[in-house]
Amino acid sequence: MDELNHIANHISLVIGEQFKPTSVRSISGGCINTCLQLLGNNRSFFLKLNDKSRIDMYNAEAEGLETIVATQTIRAPAPIATGICESKAYLAMEFIDLRSGSTMRAAGTKLAEMHRATQELFGWVRDNTIGTTPQRNNQCEDWCSFWRDNRLSFQLRLAARNGYRGTLQDRGELLITFCSALIDHQPCPSLLHGDLWGGNIGFDRNNNPVIFDPAVYYGDRETDIAMTELFGGFSADFYRAYNEIWPLDPGYRTRKIFYNLYHILNHLNLFGGGYGTQAVGMINRLLAEVGH
Ligand code: ADP
Repeated sequence: MDELNHIANHISLVIGEQFKPTSVRSISGGCINTCLQLLGNNRSFFLKLNDKSRIDMYNAEAEGLETIVATQTIRAPAPIATGICESKAYLAMEFIDLRSGSTMRAAGTKLAEMHRATQELFGWVRDNTIGTTPQRNNQCEDWCSFWRDNRLSFQLRLAARNGYRGTLQDRGELLITFCSALIDHQPCPSLLHGDLWGGNIGFDRNNNPVIFDPAVYYGDRETDIAMTELFGGFSADFYRAYNEIWPLDPGYRTRKIFYNLYHILNHLNLFGGGYGTQAVGMINRLLAEVGH
């Protein structure tokens, strides 16, 4: 395939040696992209392909991976190259032979270490995507305003545009007015994975945890922990290890609902179905906390 030759040449330029793929393997498990393993000259790369309109998504993903790699905490694949060839956008990165791990302890420790990487402002230097939904990261000094404007209001407006009106919007609007009552702590802007469900973590050959497919920004570290709990939860040793390094602040249990509401609204916007009812249920639980 011409595209693969073009991409292999790009990879060769970046790594400073000739890379000629001799075999291509399809990798399953992704939700959005065509994923391939390119093998040749004892080297191996992981490649994502999509329509060329997705190039910004790939540039942002590459920058996010680079930011995580730079912390030298939890392992993430090093990005190699992004670009467009013919009708396709591509993102090439280090291939890591991923498997499931026997213990999540190191993942808890390493994630807490990554969260220690902070900056002054909430947000990020660029917007990215969560799934395929645009994720706005306008930088801001105040966490509560960041969350309200870039996360909750953004998804609610998108839901309205997608036709989800009525109770969701009425209760959602009311919830927006109670943001500061519900986010009643002052976190520091930690580097976040941003989309940390069980499908975005694995283990390398040496059993080191590896995170991938991030939606990076700087924010309350509790949002990452909350997401790990959204679809079944990680094992107890993960949370134990995380709390040994950096215990969660009091009030997390309520904020967790608030933070996961963002992902449920995003699922509503991406997939529809029962996520609307789930979102209204979460909004009602949060409003009940403040007497509404
Ligand atoms: P998508 O963006 O389409 O959701 P993912 O980034 O989740 O794709 O990747 C799809 C699958 O490929 C993952 O579930 C994981 O098993 C595997 N994978 C992801 N990144 C790498 C990598 N750098 N090296 C090897 N396998 C990877």
